[in-house]
Amino acid sequence: MGLQLSSNRREFLRHAGLTLGSTLLRTPFARAANINPKKKLVVVTFGGGARDQETFAPEGQENIPHMMRKLLPGATFFTQVVNRGILGHYVATASLATGVYETINNFASLPPENPTVFEYYRKDLKRPSSDAWVVAPSNGFNRIGESNHRSYGLGFGARVVLPKYLLKAAMSGSGADYQHLLRDNYENPYYTPELGNREFELQQLEMVLKLSATDFRAHAKTLSSPDELSLYIVRQLIRQVSPSFLWITMHDIDVAHAGAYSLYIEGIRRTDRLCGELWTLLESEPEYSGKTTLVVLPDFGRDADEDAGGNGFQHHRTGDAAARTTWLMAMGPGIREGVVHDRAVESVDLVPTLGTMLGFSPSFAHGKPISELV
Ligand SMILES: [Zn+2]
Repeated sequence: MGLQLSSNRREFLRHAGLTLGSTLLRTPFARAANINPKKKLVVVTFGGGARDQETFAPEGQENIPHMMRKLLPGATFFTQVVNRGILGHYVATASLATGVYETINNFASLPPENPTVFEYYRKDLKRPSSDAWVVAPSNGFNRIGESNHRSYGLGFGARVVLPKYLLKAAMSGSGADYQHLLRDNYENPYYTPELGNREFELQQLEMVLKLSATDFRAHAKTLSSPDELSLYIVRQLIRQVSPSFLWITMHDIDVAHAGAYSLYIEGIRRTDRLCGELWTLLESEPEYSGKTTLVVLPDFGRDADEDAGGNGFQHHRTGDAAARTTWLMAMGPGIREGVVHDRAVESVDLVPTLGTMLGFSPSFAHGKPISELV
């Protein structure tokens, strides 16, 4: 299975006119740009579980026109990113954020056990708490910003915004108009977000994002999904706070658990559009334009159609090669444009790569910096 998948990967992007990369030599100038303190970093986890065949593989490319046309030509692309950890969305995202395959309960509200990239970033680079933010779906992700590691932890993490919590706090009376924006945890569809601390959420909304509850409610009515709500919050955050490090976790695609292929594809198409809108936003904001590194990658894939132990796109339960293998796209100052790499890297390589790019030391991370990006 692994070998078969690996040979198929050579077919990736064959029509996109991109070159297959080899060893790259970086110029001293590119290295200097890499440690520019004004540099911004945006990481997007592209949905909860997306397979190659519905995204960058030749037969999937029609689902991601914005990434194909707008992002890919300016990016370095990796066709094999292997996740050797637990294939649950919260624990996998925590692993991406720590550079260690975390083993925490995917369905519990627990912090990662190893220091997060936000803690390394803030502690090593002496950045204030306003400089690192996470925008995430709410099933467990409220603890993603900060580990319970004794050398880091308390006070060094990222601030976490949970758009669904904000919406719940801003709602008055019945939320009938907003149920589609509050859908949460597609593996357990009857779960809706608990409201943590309404005063805290309203304060975040009004003082940080500069949105009144009334305006937020009115705008939310025009949105079609939780990830659209997240992008709306990202837009406010970028304009009002301009954090140097922003991590966005998309989740709409995981509606696939409901079993309708059309909804899964619709989720991919929407996430693709939102990634395109995000890049346009970053390019149009003077604080970000020309100085932002953007990394986009799914947390993992989904089960293969031919795997007898699973149900194809619907779940990610078999642990087969399709579910463990995904892709990564990176673009920004110092990163080569229009290059595809076929060699395997791992999910846990992300944090060491970001560390080398930005000049912090993820000392507890297990992965290695991806040499083609740093
Ligand atoms: Zn899932």
